Amino acid sequence: MIDLHTHSIVSDGSDTPARVVELAVEAGCSALALTDHDSLAGIDPARRRAVELGIAFVPGCEVSCRSIGPGGMHVLVYFVEEDGGPLDAELGRLREDRRRRNLALADRLVALGLPVTYDQVVAVAGGEEGIGRPHFAIALLQAGAVDSVDTAFHRYLADGRPGFVPKSRLTGVEVAALAAASGGVAVLAHPFSTGLEGAELARAVGGLAEVGFSGIEAIYGRYSPRRRRELVHLARRFDLVATGGSDHHGALKPDLRVGTGRGDLKVANQVLVELEARRPGG
Ligand code: AMP
Ligand code: ZN
Ligand code: FE
Ligand code: FE
Repeated sequence: MIDLHTHSIVSDGSDTPARVVELAVEAGCSALALTDHDSLAGIDPARRRAVELGIAFVPGCEVSCRSIGPGGMHVLVYFVEEDGGPLDAELGRLREDRRRRNLALADRLVALGLPVTYDQVVAVAGGEEGIGRPHFAIALLQAGAVDSVDTAFHRYLADGRPGFVPKSRLTGVEVAALAAASGGVAVLAHPFSTGLEGAELARAVGGLAEVGFSGIEAIYGRYSPRRRRELVHLARRFDLVATGGSDHHGALKPDLRVGTGRGDLKVANQVLVELEARRPGG
């Protein structure tokens, strides 16, 4: 078995990249992809550990895109290296824009009269790298301005609320093109997160197949057997690879473990073989 969706401390996971590789070996995986949000920085340390332990390693990342539905859209990219061309360069620009957004968001909350500063948010996040709205929500909670993270989003941080400050996002088409130009492939992560179902989801997935997507994540850690089957069928219908992974984040999502997810996950080695065949020139 394999796992094609994991996060480390490079984004919002709690394990080091090397530790994620160790957990994959302990779980009995023959291959692992590290897919941190918007960054390729974990690839080198993870690969080094993978070579030491004799497990196949797939360099990857997960990009939050402008969505095709009412929910969020995440795209997994595989076979892309750090300093590996246009995608890595674009991820750097996205990280800069995130920092700009975070500074503006802190100003906005102060302007709303809320007792929170940028420095406090940095302290919550343990550094400036990869700060996101969840860290602002925790800072608001710690300051006593809200009674839960959920309230912080509903009252201030969610799209359409007074504290919402947008940041730039790539479209799925752009990510697919950047992936291809960097020697990689694009896969729609946890498709139901888009908020689409049934015929609407099918239409959207068909559109992604047309613009160069290679797969959809069907065998996802948090999906029921029925939903996984539905997505496997959808993948077949559009000649896409039905990929799979746990979405391991360590302590942040303790119910999801590398390789086994909630205990019922099993992604076959064959999935990686099929995905390799979709690489540009592959
Ligand atoms: P950011 O990338 O900084 O804009 O933050 C996005 C993250 O905020 C998402 O990955 C979610 O984990 C979290 N998030 C977004 N909307 C909500 C919400 N309504 N309630 C709780 N968490 C949310
Ligand atoms: Zn994450
Ligand atoms: Fe995701
Ligand atoms: Fe993820």
